[in-house]
Amino acid sequence: MLFGPQGQVVLIDTGPDLLHQLRDPYADWDGRSYPTRAVERCDGVLLTHCHADHSHGLNELRHLNRLMRRAADGRRTPIPIYGHPGHLAELTGMFPYCFGDGTAGGFQYGAPALLPVPVADGVPFPIAGLAVTPFALSHGPAGRTTGFRCGGMAYLTDLKECPEAAIPLLQNLDLLVLDMLREEPHPTHFCWSEALDLVNRLRPARTVLTHLGPEVQVAAWTDRLPVGIEMAVDGWQAPFVP
Ligand SMILES: [Zn+2]
Ligand SMILES: [Zn+2]
Repeated sequence: MLFGPQGQVVLIDTGPDLLHQLRDPYADWDGRSYPTRAVERCDGVLLTHCHADHSHGLNELRHLNRLMRRAADGRRTPIPIYGHPGHLAELTGMFPYCFGDGTAGGFQYGAPALLPVPVADGVPFPIAGLAVTPFALSHGPAGRTTGFRCGGMAYLTDLKECPEAAIPLLQNLDLLVLDMLREEPHPTHFCWSEALDLVNRLRPARTVLTHLGPEVQVAAWTDRLPVGIEMAVDGWQAPFVP
């Protein structure tokens, strides 16, 4: 989840626990009072790919459509979903009721109102004033995923290989968010040594490892992680220049 300087909110994927993430993004809600730090806006979603762990919370965007309508003029403005054309076709096939019938008001009552927006690798596009550049990553035999760069931040998940074409887009990073499933090699994800090789090549100021598998016990890694590399935990935050 990216927060822009003018209050912009950009989501990366819509995982199955999206409702929890929207309601308690800083992992500090007491569970009883109204969650005053809840996310109530979304300027767009960056879709890395359609695997269930990245897309099956799509239905939860209906809450943001409702909250954004209340704040505006009463009409529902669709939330744009930016992604590779093939991934968007897959997503609209899985969740057809979220994408309306192509008319301005053609969304089902209570369902999300979403708009697929295809993006091209290497071509920057704006989201509410933030410039984002998409690029292709290899998910091994699982196909391709899309990585994204926004200002000094880059987000690379679900990759087995970082293509050479992406390397020039990943220079001078303040923050690299990087797939690291586990210590042992995996056919479709970076393992520890693969993640470390890319960090050593790109030399970002700061790296956070994400998509940690159940084998990864964060506490056991604290002492072995090199300076500048951390593991993502719920509520983790870091600044970057957008
Ligand atoms: Zn995944
Ligand atoms: Zn995946």
